[in-house]
Amino acid sequence: MNLGEKTLNSIYGYTRKKLEEYFLSKGEKKFKALQVFEWLYIHKIENIDLWSNLKKEVREELKEDFVVQTPKIIKQERDTLTRKYLFELEDHNHIEAVVMYHDYGISLCVSSQVGCNMGCAFCESGRLKKVRNLETYEMVGQIIEIEKEIKDRIASVVIMGIGEPLDNYDHVMDFIRIINDPKGLALGIRHITLSTSGIVPKIYDLMKENIQINLAVSLHAPNDTIRNQIMKVNQVYNISQLIQAIQDYIHHTNRRVTIEYVMLKGINDSDSCAKELAHLLKGMNIYVNLIPYNETNHIDLYKSDAKTIQHFCSILKENKINVTIRKEFGSKISAACGQLRSKEVEK
Ligand code: SAH
Ligand code: SF4
Repeated sequence: MNLGEKTLNSIYGYTRKKLEEYFLSKGEKKFKALQVFEWLYIHKIENIDLWSNLKKEVREELKEDFVVQTPKIIKQERDTLTRKYLFELEDHNHIEAVVMYHDYGISLCVSSQVGCNMGCAFCESGRLKKVRNLETYEMVGQIIEIEKEIKDRIASVVIMGIGEPLDNYDHVMDFIRIINDPKGLALGIRHITLSTSGIVPKIYDLMKENIQINLAVSLHAPNDTIRNQIMKVNQVYNISQLIQAIQDYIHHTNRRVTIEYVMLKGINDSDSCAKELAHLLKGMNIYVNLIPYNETNHIDLYKSDAKTIQHFCSILKENKINVTIRKEFGSKISAACGQLRSKEVEK
């Protein structure tokens, strides 16, 4: 086993294509990759010795070359519709994932990095900075462990936990390939959502993948003045560049894009902000998700009043913008991006 190496060579980090390449390099037939996928993702048997349709020599070699490893759940918090899990990674870093029970099925919000370097003013993950990218197996492993824990299937995955997924592009793409693989976790591509703070060149890279993933963009402000104050990324890729990228993405993929807008009291929640936002997004195939801010102890920003959010929403509607107000999941259990990990780090 490669336990001595810097990162574990967990088999959960391998796409079927990469496993095929592995078997070919060993002089084996590539369909063995399919057999491995069936053991891992269909039969869910992690003990390589039990992979009975593979020859003993092949199994021994797999055991030499890989571990079957996932991050481990060390803590959980729950309320009625939400369960939040804290994971410990091999190097003792922590990440979190949140399960949400919707009418239409169970969704899971996964992390993509340990911390985040984008430094958004309102975000707990950004406050703590990026420690490292997650490996592909550490993302796949969040789903594997949670399905074991809840004894149920995850119906949709949102990459909206700790981290900026497009700042960990290659690992996130392999993660998507594995969970979308019909012989892997078989999650339909339209049941996978990636949320980004707006790294424009990476949005174009994603566009060129030609996959039908749902894209969500954290806009959070209708103009550069406000966005520069709350999102550092805007100083590199401003709103007009971002809107252009979103338009190109929609045009190329023919998919509707979600615009996330976190409602911060006195910052971006005025009537004029709503009008400006409506003007900015006019005619685009988007829908706006207004997110009530989840307050945290360390940051002096507050959530807009429910009435203000309703009013903001109605102005968008009057201007023919599709809009919904996000249901508040798990604010009682520190479910906002990065809050559970932050408690653990502070300890
Ligand atoms: N880095 C990506 C994905 C992770 S953050 C991104 O920024 O899009 C997922 C979403 O949660 C983003 O829209 C982010 O702005 C929002 N968010 C972060 N902290 C929050 C908080 N305390 N309350 C409500 N939403 C928050
Ligand atoms: Fe990073 Fe997203 Fe948090 Fe911004 S909101 S700091 S991009 S995780």
